[in-house]
Amino acid sequence: MPIMERRASFVACALVLLVPFIIFVKHHDYSLLSPETWLAGGVVGALGLVLGGLLAVLPSAPRVLIAASSLVLSVDLQMDWIESEGQAALLLVGSAVPLWFVRARLGRGFSFVAAVMIATTIPLAPGDGFLREEVLDTGVPPSRALPPIVHLVLDEHIAADAIPMEFDPNGALAGKIVRTYVDLGFQVYTRAFSRHFTTAPSLSHLVNLSSGEESLEFYSPTTKALRANAYFNEMSKRGYRIDVLQTDYVDFCSSDDGANVERCVTYTLESPKAIEDTALGTLPKARTIAGMYFQRSSLFKEWRKRYKAMARRSRAAGLDLPAWPLRAGRMSTVSSMALLPRLQSELASVQPGTLYFAHLLLPHYPYAFDRSCAMRPSPVEWLTYKDAALRPTRNTSESRAERYALYLEQLECTTSRIGGILQEVLATEALRDAIVIVHGDHGSRINVTTPNQANLHRMHDVDFTDAFATHFAVRMPSAKPGVDTRSIAIDELFSAIVRQAAIPDGSEWIASPDVVITGKGDAKALRRPMAWPADR
Ligand SMILES: [Zn+2]
Repeated sequence: MPIMERRASFVACALVLLVPFIIFVKHHDYSLLSPETWLAGGVVGALGLVLGGLLAVLPSAPRVLIAASSLVLSVDLQMDWIESEGQAALLLVGSAVPLWFVRARLGRGFSFVAAVMIATTIPLAPGDGFLREEVLDTGVPPSRALPPIVHLVLDEHIAADAIPMEFDPNGALAGKIVRTYVDLGFQVYTRAFSRHFTTAPSLSHLVNLSSGEESLEFYSPTTKALRANAYFNEMSKRGYRIDVLQTDYVDFCSSDDGANVERCVTYTLESPKAIEDTALGTLPKARTIAGMYFQRSSLFKEWRKRYKAMARRSRAAGLDLPAWPLRAGRMSTVSSMALLPRLQSELASVQPGTLYFAHLLLPHYPYAFDRSCAMRPSPVEWLTYKDAALRPTRNTSESRAERYALYLEQLECTTSRIGGILQEVLATEALRDAIVIVHGDHGSRINVTTPNQANLHRMHDVDFTDAFATHFAVRMPSAKPGVDTRSIAIDELFSAIVRQAAIPDGSEWIASPDVVITGKGDAKALRRPMAWPADR
């Protein structure tokens, strides 16, 4: 092998794997110059150098296979084409054949093409992988006579009366939540509940003023893009212009039934950008970037799954394997927290005739923040609402207790931050008469038992409150602030606000006390009355 070819071979695979890495970093608008980007890039490069070392010393046939492997891996990291190892093998063979004919120049050819791609990618403008803003001219000026509406969805916010006493001594946090909202002029429904256990059905029924049980009837067939939004439609008819701040999980801007959505800002829940400006150390940031990058590859995902299964088996046999090194950690709460300054400045400029709607994954999992909103140090160790190792059980009473302690700290942080923002903006002239709605979409979901038809016989009352009890608070100029302990579904509370501009007293108007219990596959959903533990 000529010396030039040997040298080029040594760096070729590293360059090929760094192309999608640089595109990934640019797409998420993360700084290419940060030390954590270099550290994560170093991991990618090191993997490439191992392959490159082989490419530099092996004979022709294995060289072609190694070059083809690095190409397949690079494609898998960049595109969503490869779904199985079989497809990867097919692509491997398919690319090895033409590479065989240029085997004498593999190192130089790969290095040259990859270097050109890197050099042309770096100067490109950063991508909108974290934040996308669309402004649409609806051609309809807002009606100045209408009071502004601020509508905040705080995902996974449990109802105050459902916070388990054993994790909230003397009801201190429940009391703080209620006081925060009452002091701001809200009526707080401490026993509100969602009919649904998951976000997509809960919020789609809510905005369609529906109490139904069909989980995805308001969505486009293959995505979480709403095709109907009776609420936005109705408000547009009344003369409101609509401003949306949403996640990339449920798309509220997509319905085409006549809503005047004028501005739609969509943020990515799982983006490394969320941690860029945080106080996390370089090493955890780099681990997060590298983990999220390799998570893009379906081959890596497959290998990780196998490794985990192997680790489980060996643990049962008394041998502890080290954890898979390239875990990503979830970013959704950090992304949402990073948006709060933007939320505050946008709320400060809301005018009469505007409906401002925001969906935030707070106080949702992962539990990344302590009660003072300081970030916990290591993203890969942040917990979620269930212990995956216990599958098919969600939690034991120990894992539930551990998670509730963390969740309630994050809930306290959320209450302080949202309360602070509302206090500031509601003091302004423009928002003094604003209607403000703040609510969750289901409970903490830190259940021991997953609510479904198969588990119905082992569900206790507390499984109902963990699953469904959710926060609901509304501030209307016509209603006095205070606490309401009636158990009412959020879709009925919300429909009353939209249709009657008031939540009636008494209970005759409440149509249904039920929650929806789903079954497997196409099984018809069952309805069961919402339950509250007797000791509250
Ligand atoms: Zn949710």
